[in-house]
Amino acid sequence: MKNTTVLISGASIAGPALAHWLIRYGFAVTVVERAPSLRLGGQAVDFKGETHRTVLSRMGILDDVRRHQTGGSDQEIVDAAGRTLAVIPGEFSGGDIEITRGDLSRLLYERTAPACEYVFGDSITSLTETKDGVHVTFERSAPRTFDLVVGADGIHSNVRRLVFGPEERFVRFLGHYYALVETGLDFGEPGKMYNEPGRMVAVGGTKAPAFFVFASEPLQYDRYDVEQQKKLLDRAYAGMGWRVPEIMEAVRGAREVYFDSISQVRIDRYSQGRVVLLGDAAYGNTLGGFGTGLAVVGAYVLAGELAAAGGDHRVAFAEYERRFRPYAKIAKSGNAGPFLAPGSRAKMLMRNWTFKYGFLLGLMLKVTDKFATDIKLKTYPPTAA
Ligand SMILES: Cc1cc2nc3c(=O)[nH]c(=O)nc-3n(C[C@H](O)[C@H](O)[C@H](O)COP(=O)(O)OP(=O)(O)OC[C@H]3O[C@@H](n4cnc5c(N)ncnc54)[C@H](O)[C@@H]3O)c2cc1C
Repeated sequence: MKNTTVLISGASIAGPALAHWLIRYGFAVTVVERAPSLRLGGQAVDFKGETHRTVLSRMGILDDVRRHQTGGSDQEIVDAAGRTLAVIPGEFSGGDIEITRGDLSRLLYERTAPACEYVFGDSITSLTETKDGVHVTFERSAPRTFDLVVGADGIHSNVRRLVFGPEERFVRFLGHYYALVETGLDFGEPGKMYNEPGRMVAVGGTKAPAFFVFASEPLQYDRYDVEQQKKLLDRAYAGMGWRVPEIMEAVRGAREVYFDSISQVRIDRYSQGRVVLLGDAAYGNTLGGFGTGLAVVGAYVLAGELAAAGGDHRVAFAEYERRFRPYAKIAKSGNAGPFLAPGSRAKMLMRNWTFKYGFLLGLMLKVTDKFATDIKLKTYPPTAA
């Protein structure tokens, strides 16, 4: 086997899922994560259809994932007086299997940690490709050389910036921001969603943390400054009705806040030399509904192609891209912002009617099913474990 040492940047979903396979194929894996520990925040994420289930099953984690599933639940769209206007069925927002992002990340981490090296609280500062490896420097650790490097570090990928170029070339802002906040408020089940034009708040239900989506011009802010992000949210939700003032009061005291733009990644090539991108770093579409499924299936294909090519990265990266790019097309098509936070009362009404009268719902579910299963999974060489 060629190229046996692999450095993965990012320990969320794509990184640990890839580590899982590479370890089993006999690679020596190091995962570097910028956060000081595993990031367990976020709402529930979902898997849908045969392809996702098959990959989870081949990983040997389908039963574990099922054991942790939230069960999914309907969500009521309410008016300012709290009256139900329409119901979003659980199968629409939660796929076939819904699990909190934190539980999934922890499950993948616990499966892989004993057999690979995790380095938390560090980040790559430079990548220099040589004839037989990639020389890597870090913010904290000593420099090292690896055979291959994988950027599984999300939509704002550090590896992509260092190797492919600045983020502005690959990430398109889609006109909305979103936030997930642990408010500590209990709204029970079913979850409630409240809209005013260009703004949405969802609370309660199995998706868990309070969830905000709002339309905005691009904002300048520090991605690591939670207090600043809370102020942006406060400003965006000022004057909103229903129970929003109470929710915003809880946001002001919250410790866990995840705030980001709704954006889409578009990149012509997933790899350059010995460096390759996986998951949101390569084909992210915030809240597009398939980020987690794409990351897990992508990890299966990338690791499988590396094993099938005996570690030859040129062959494996080209095959990964050829097989996976058509499947990742879902990431190019959707924008969840205008759906979750319609820009006018008329658009809110139309969105609500879709659910109230079931217009197009069956069709929408069929289309998403088609996207989630539109790849022929190859059977890769048997793993050692
Ligand atoms: C805290 C958090 C909460 C989320 N909540 C939701 C949610 O509620 N709903 C939803 O649909 N999706 C959510 N996502 C995104 C979702 O996890 C992804 O869309 C999908 O699972 C694909 O995962 P990924 O591993 O490719 O990217 P991500 O999940 O974005 O993970 C990227 C990882 O790389 C790490 N990282 C970033 N920069 C560096 C660096 N310089 N060096 C090393 N590591 C770095 C990040 O800390 C993170 O752990 C969330 C992501 C995170 C990190």
